[in-house]
Amino acid sequence: MMTLTNRAKPVDRKPMTFLESIYLWNIFKGMLITLTHFFKKKTTIKYPEQKRPFSPVFRGVQILNRDEDGRERCTACGLCALACPAEAITMEAAERMPGEENLYREEKYAAKYEINMLRCIFCGFCEEACPKDAVYLSETFAPPAYNRKNFIYTKNDLLIPDPKTQPEEYAKAQGLRENKKAKKEPF
Ligand code: SF4
Ligand code: SF4
Repeated sequence: MMTLTNRAKPVDRKPMTFLESIYLWNIFKGMLITLTHFFKKKTTIKYPEQKRPFSPVFRGVQILNRDEDGRERCTACGLCALACPAEAITMEAAERMPGEENLYREEKYAAKYEINMLRCIFCGFCEEACPKDAVYLSETFAPPAYNRKNFIYTKNDLLIPDPKTQPEEYAKAQGLRENKKAKKEPF
């Protein structure tokens, strides 16, 4: 048969041998390949029971930070939202009332703070932009969900546990951050 390029090669169709014609040999070869994989080092792990250690530069779900007295650090300045290339952050500011000094560190705080995890690209710009060390990317990732609404993380989802009342949970949420911070200049 002539083609435009004339580069076609005729296929060599040899007649099948007896072993090939009964297919058992090919099945046996396939099983042998499967068997050799049983003894090889596994490249997968049994998540979520097993977890791989993250890279030191891993950037996961954001956390809204508190100070050592458990007060919210965020002052709703909006710099993180401005820095966000994905426009994933929305917030509403509120004024701190007398008697709320134990809850909020600054005179203005975020009454509402939301991050749309379906938009977030985990670039870390929000963390870089924050002048109050109030938002940072943690060492965990957003769990799966069936509903899009469940990927809108509210302030309650993002706020780190109170170090005074839940010291263990606070330390766990901080993860390796304290070690990393120790290597940097203080804020
Ligand atoms: S990590 Fe990047 S994309 Fe995600 S909220 Fe922060 S600035 Fe936006
Ligand atoms: S998280 Fe930081 S940058 Fe964002 S509004 Fe709060 S204080 Fe400002």
